Amino acid sequence: MSDVRNVIIIGSGPAGYTAALYTARASLKPLVFEGAVTAGGALMNTTEVENFPGFQDGIMGPELMDNMRAQAERFGAELLPDDVVAVDLTGEIKTVTDTAGTVHRAKAVIVATGSQHRKLGLPNEDALSGRGVSWCATCDGFFFKDQDIAVIGGGDTAMEEATFLSRFAKSVTIVHRRDTLRASKAMQERAFADPKISFVWDSEVAEVQGDQKLSGLKLRNVKTGELSDLAVTGLFIAIGHDPRTELFKGQLELDEEGYLKVDAPSTRTNVTGVFGAGDVVDHTYRQAITAAGTGCAAALDAERFLAALS
Ligand code: FAD
Repeated sequence: MSDVRNVIIIGSGPAGYTAALYTARASLKPLVFEGAVTAGGALMNTTEVENFPGFQDGIMGPELMDNMRAQAERFGAELLPDDVVAVDLTGEIKTVTDTAGTVHRAKAVIVATGSQHRKLGLPNEDALSGRGVSWCATCDGFFFKDQDIAVIGGGDTAMEEATFLSRFAKSVTIVHRRDTLRASKAMQERAFADPKISFVWDSEVAEVQGDQKLSGLKLRNVKTGELSDLAVTGLFIAIGHDPRTELFKGQLELDEEGYLKVDAPSTRTNVTGVFGAGDVVDHTYRQAITAAGTGCAAALDAERFLAALS
C-alpha cells in the first residue's frame, strides 16, 4: 500500500495537465494517471489548433499537449502512463487502483477523464481526422471556408454545428438516418430556414473516402439500400459524446446523460474531496481552453480543501 498523497489526478487532457501544473506549483506533488494508450487526451488526435490563446500561428494538437505535460512535470507532477481501473472515493482517504493492481491513496482526487465523441465506426474515419473529418465545428469550421460540408446527425448538436458551419461553407448537407429530426423545434426551424443547408433523409454513411484528405462520402439509404455519392471536403460527425464516467458510477453523482455533476461554479462533486473538471463535466462548451480553465479551478478547489484539513 502506497503512502497517502495529497492529490491524485485522473486524466491527461488540458483539464488534467492544468490541474497537475497548478497542484504541482502549490507543492502538492500530484500523481497523474494519464491513461495507457490515450495520454494527452482528445487533442492528440487532431492537427492544427488555432484557438488556444497564446499561439498566434496555431499549434499542432500533440505539440500543445506535450508542452502542457512538460510544464506540469517541470514543477514536480508525477505522471504515470497508465489507466485507473477502480476507485473508492467514499472515505476520507480515497483509493485508486492501476492496471497492475497497485492501490494508490490520496486525500483528494480530481477527475478529468474527458468524454469520447461517438464515431461512425468506419474505416478511414480516424485516419482522416483533422484531414477533413471533424467532431467539432467551433474548433475546425474556419478551415472549411467556401467548401461543401456534410454534417451527420439529427439532434440539437448536429443542427447547431450545421447552422454554425453555414457561415463559412459553400453548402452544408445534413445526413440523417431517419426521416424526422430529434432536435428541438427552434433548432430545426433555424436549419430549415438556412438557404445553404439541405437534408438527405433516411441515410447513413457507408464509406468515408479519401487518401490524405477527405474527398467524399458514399451514402446508403437505410430503407432502399440504394447507394449514392456525396462530394464533400468536410465531414462533421455530430452523433453524440459519451463522458468517461463508468468508473465512478454508484460513487459520484452523474446527470441523466452520464456527465459528472459538480456544484458549479465550483468543481466540487457530491463527495467531499473529489473534484471534476473538463469535458467529463461539460456538455456545453467542450473546448481545450474551457477544460484547462476548469482544471485550474479544480486544482484551486483541491488546494483549499487540503489546506482546511491541516
Ligand atoms: P480529454 O482531452 O478527453 O482528456 C481526458 C484524458 O483522460 C485522456 O487522456 C484519457 O486517456 C484520460 N482518461 C480517461 N479515463 C481514464 C482512466 N480510467 N485512467 C486514466 N486516464 C484516463 N478544442 C479546442 O479548443 N480547439 C480545437 O481545435 C479542438 N480540436 C479538437 C479536435 C478533435 C479531433 C477533438 C476530438 C476535439 C477537439 N477539441 C478542440 C476539443 C478538446 O480536445 C476537448 O474539449 C478537450 O481535450 C477536453 O479536455 P479534457 O481534459 O476534459 O479531456
